[in-house]
This record gives sequence, C-alpha cells and structure tokens, in this order.
Amino acid sequence: MPRPAPPELASRRALLSAALGAAPGVALGAGLSAVLAGCATTSAEAPPVDSSHPAQGQDSRALFLILHYTGESLADSLRILTQQAVSAHYLVGDQAQPVVYRLVDESRRAWHAGDSAWQGHTMLNASSIGFEIVNPGPRSQPDGSRLFAPYPPAQINTLIGLVRDIQARHGIRPDRILGHSDIAPQRKLDPGPAFPWRALAEAGLLRWPDAAQLRLHTAVLQRRFPDALPEPAWWQDMLAQVGYSVPRHGQLDSATRQVIAAFQMKYRPARYDGLPDRETAVWLQAVVTTDAADTAANRGAGTLPSGATQPGESAVCQG
Ligand SMILES: [Zn+2]
Repeated sequence: MPRPAPPELASRRALLSAALGAAPGVALGAGLSAVLAGCATTSAEAPPVDSSHPAQGQDSRALFLILHYTGESLADSLRILTQQAVSAHYLVGDQAQPVVYRLVDESRRAWHAGDSAWQGHTMLNASSIGFEIVNPGPRSQPDGSRLFAPYPPAQINTLIGLVRDIQARHGIRPDRILGHSDIAPQRKLDPGPAFPWRALAEAGLLRWPDAAQLRLHTAVLQRRFPDALPEPAWWQDMLAQVGYSVPRHGQLDSATRQVIAAFQMKYRPARYDGLPDRETAVWLQAVVTTDAADTAANRGAGTLPSGATQPGESAVCQG
C-alpha cells in the first residue's frame, strides 16, 4: 500500500497541479518530480575551503587578560565555574603543586567579566581570556575591617608561567593584563590588594615604575603642585589615561574614589581607601608616563565588533 504524501508535499502538488491546469491526483512528469525532489531538499553541504593563503592583516581576538579570585574553595570553584552560567578559561588551584584547569577553550568566550571597560573597550568577555585563582578573598575581622588572604608563592609562580605563555601566543600588551577591579572598579575588588602585581612586573609581564622614575615624578609633582594635591580633574584625566573608565566631571565623587581605590590596590596596596594623596599621585603619573612611552604607537590597535553582548559574569569573585 502506497504511503500517503506528507501534507506539505501533498499541498505543493495540489498547488502545482492547479497552476498547470491538471486535476489533483494526475501523475506529474519526471521533470516536475525532480523539481519537487529538489524543493524538498533544502540543506547544502559546506564547500571545500582553500586555507593556503593566510592574510597578513590579522591578530588574536583576545586583547586582554583578566585576573580574578574565586572567593571559594577549589571544589566549590570547580563546581560553580563548570555547572553555573559563569565561567573562566582557566582556574588556578591552591594545591601545594597548583593545578591549572582549562574550563573554556581560548578560542571561545568565557563569562567572567560582566559589565566592564578598559581603554574605551567595553564588555570585555568577548575580547579577553579570564583567569580565576582559588583564593578566599576578604574576610571580615572583629574590628569591622577586611583581611585579604595572601596568594601562595607556588600559586603565583604557576600563574606567571601560564600568563606568560598566553600573553606570548596572543600578543597581549602589558597594559592589558588586568584585574577585575581595573575593568569594573565600581563593582569589583578582585584579585584584591593582596595580589602581588609587582611579582608579575618582575617577571616581565607588566610595566612597573622603578625607584628612579618615582623620584623623578615626586620632584615633578612637587614643582607643579607645591602647596596642595592636584585637583579632581587631574586625577580623573590621569586615571583615564591609564585605561580606567572614570567620571570626567571634575568632582571627587564616590565613583571617582572607587577608581582611585582600584589603582591603589594594584600599585600602592598599603592603603586603598580611594582618598587622593601625594604618593598615589606620584605612582599615577609614573604609570601614565611609563605606559605612554611604550603604547603610544599601539594604542587603538584592534577593534571590537559592535553590538556584542555578553551574558553573565563570574559570580564567584564577589567584590
Ligand atoms: Zn572577578
């Protein structure tokens, strides 16, 4: 017994028969049957691709390396980062011999940065590689203060080796190796004031002003601002030159202090209350000058696709 035609095909046949003036049910010619068969097959196979002519004009989609602490144990970090809608490309464990876990392939987007900005680039999940580091983060003390757990040297050494390899493979600029607090200073503290950024600088991954540069800028600032600290607009301008997203209204509001605090956590972590002081001003000017010497030629290289949206960010690094 012949199987009835599927409703869609039966309907097409009826329409074609009507268009050709034939009564429904009249056998169609071989040519028309072939047309119908073609209509029913809508998928086309991917053609062979010749990859033997690679273009000179290309670079990695990864422009930034973003560091986080998890604020959780290793087991909880693995569970959250693999089973919830937050992730990172790499998780660095806290074992005596720290294990590096790859959770997301570098060619794919991990969900760790959330609403974020640096040097005018925004929503950095699309253009970054994210590293979560197992670290408890801040713990409240009886006096109400917060104490940040240190990062074991073995863990930092492991991280440095990992970052060095990835920085080299993707051509990441030193001023684009950042903390979550750098790219989201209004919301995040991680990797926190206990994170040893200086160790990464000593490993050659970041630029870092040396003692002579700090002395030079101490003198420069003293001449320019002999009697008072620079005005709020100066702080906002310098922080923007470093790369931070910062208000530019010339007022020392809470948002501006949050950005100053993010800078202090990284370069002068002994105090990170966001209050301007002369030492922070010296560091800020020194960092701007050091960065400018190396990045002027490259700033603006690489663009993000417009309209990119990024669901999710890492919730395990609560700031
Ligand atoms: Zn984070």
